[in-house]
Parts: sequence; structure tokens; C-alpha cells
Amino acid sequence: MTKKMDPCIRCSKVPSENDKYCNDCGAPLENRCSDEPGILKKGCRFVNPPDAAYCAKCGEPTMFHLHGLISPNYENANRPLFSKVSSWQQTVNKDMFGHHSQ
Ligand SMILES: [Zn+2]
Ligand SMILES: [Zn+2]
Repeated sequence: MTKKMDPCIRCSKVPSENDKYCNDCGAPLENRCSDEPGILKKGCRFVNPPDAAYCAKCGEPTMFHLHGLISPNYENANRPLFSKVSSWQQTVNKDMFGHHSQ
């Protein structure tokens, strides 16, 4: 089974089948999610469209974005919603604990 490879986003070289990175300039060939599997997590590794700066599934920066090959449309688009939620949860937990210990 042969898979058609897209040319490198940076230097336009057509890669060999199953190549993950361009062997001329080192650019990633797939706009994969940067959330790699680790010891405590499954990771995401979702393959996004070439123009996506953030993963459509989990919101982590994509490989093209990390390598500086594309830039996001919004400069401060780094998941403001997520950080708001986690700081709100921390405040609630602290309040509950403080009340309980008095
Ligand atoms: Zn290249
Ligand atoms: Zn992802």
C-alpha cells in the first residue's frame, strides 16, 4: 500500500514513504499534536491539517507550530479557558480545606 506524501512545508522536498521528518531541513512532515504518550498519559498524537497551530482534539500546540513553520492567527491564543478553570478549582479547594480545619 503506497501513501502519497505531501512535500516538505519548509523546503518543498518530496519525502520518501513513511518519513516522519524532512531529511533535507529537519522539518516535521505531519502536523501531529505535540502531546506525546508518556508514563502517566496516553498522549494525543492527532494529525491535524497543515495550517493548524493547535491540536483540534486537545488544544496542545502542533508540531508545525512548535517548529516555527506556521504561526497561530491569535498571538495569545494559548488556551485561556483551561488556565482559568484550574485556578478557580485551586481557590475552591483551598477555601474548603481552610474552613474544615477551623
Ligand atoms: Zn524540508
Ligand atoms: Zn492533541
